[in-house]
Amino acid sequence: MEKQQQLYEGKAKKVYATERDDLVIVSYKDDATALDGLKKGSIRGKGVVNNRMSNFLMRLLEKEGVPTHFVKELNDRETVVKKVSIVPLEVIIRNISAGSFAKRYGVEEGIVFKAPTIEFSYKNDELHDPLINEYHALALGLATGAEIERIKSLAFKVNSVLKAYFSALGVRLVDFKLEFGRTPDGNIVLADEISPDTCRFWDAETGEKLDKDRFRRDMGGVEEAYGEMMRRVFGE
Ligand code: UDP
Repeated sequence: MEKQQQLYEGKAKKVYATERDDLVIVSYKDDATALDGLKKGSIRGKGVVNNRMSNFLMRLLEKEGVPTHFVKELNDRETVVKKVSIVPLEVIIRNISAGSFAKRYGVEEGIVFKAPTIEFSYKNDELHDPLINEYHALALGLATGAEIERIKSLAFKVNSVLKAYFSALGVRLVDFKLEFGRTPDGNIVLADEISPDTCRFWDAETGEKLDKDRFRRDMGGVEEAYGEMMRRVFGE
């Protein structure tokens, strides 16, 4: 399958048309942004890590009954995915307090929750992705009630699969962000990516951060952290 015209360029990925109406090619870049776009930079090799890890995890999730947009990995940075219309919600699941949760509620990072939490942000750059609840999403017409129920149930399923998977690799899955899309026949599928850009990973032994927080917080060792997650997943 060949790339045709570029349809879209986002912060970390480009999307190309293909000869098929129902498929697009995603190309992962090394560009990184954080702090609502204020911080810009590049993480060498990130595109390869995110493409390969995301595809691996999507295949794992498919086996566990979670429908995804994944079709075929073309090479280290490019993947064929189903063309979907993205539901404009960022779906965040948390197992352990960190980031904006810790800040918003004035608690330390690292509190292990009795049960995972879910929250939604309205995907809208001009408004800076405000936190919203399900009723707001319905009122704004972002998704139907049935779609929201489906998204919640899939998101918790993703959490249980990934938590167990990473735990076996000595990694704590702290929190992560998911995006979902609608296929032309009206089904909800997991879309976007699952990677160190969109998840918080802490080493189970040392607590070391193995994700994009190293970039966000200028901690150094950013490429090494992505490389370490690649090794845990692929053993290379
Ligand atoms: N996240 C993301 N994209 C965003 C915001 C958050 O992928 O635009 C991920 C982030 O990597 C983390 C989780 O969602 O794993 C929760 O992020 P949080 O709400 O704590 O926001 P942050 O502290 O990153 O601003």
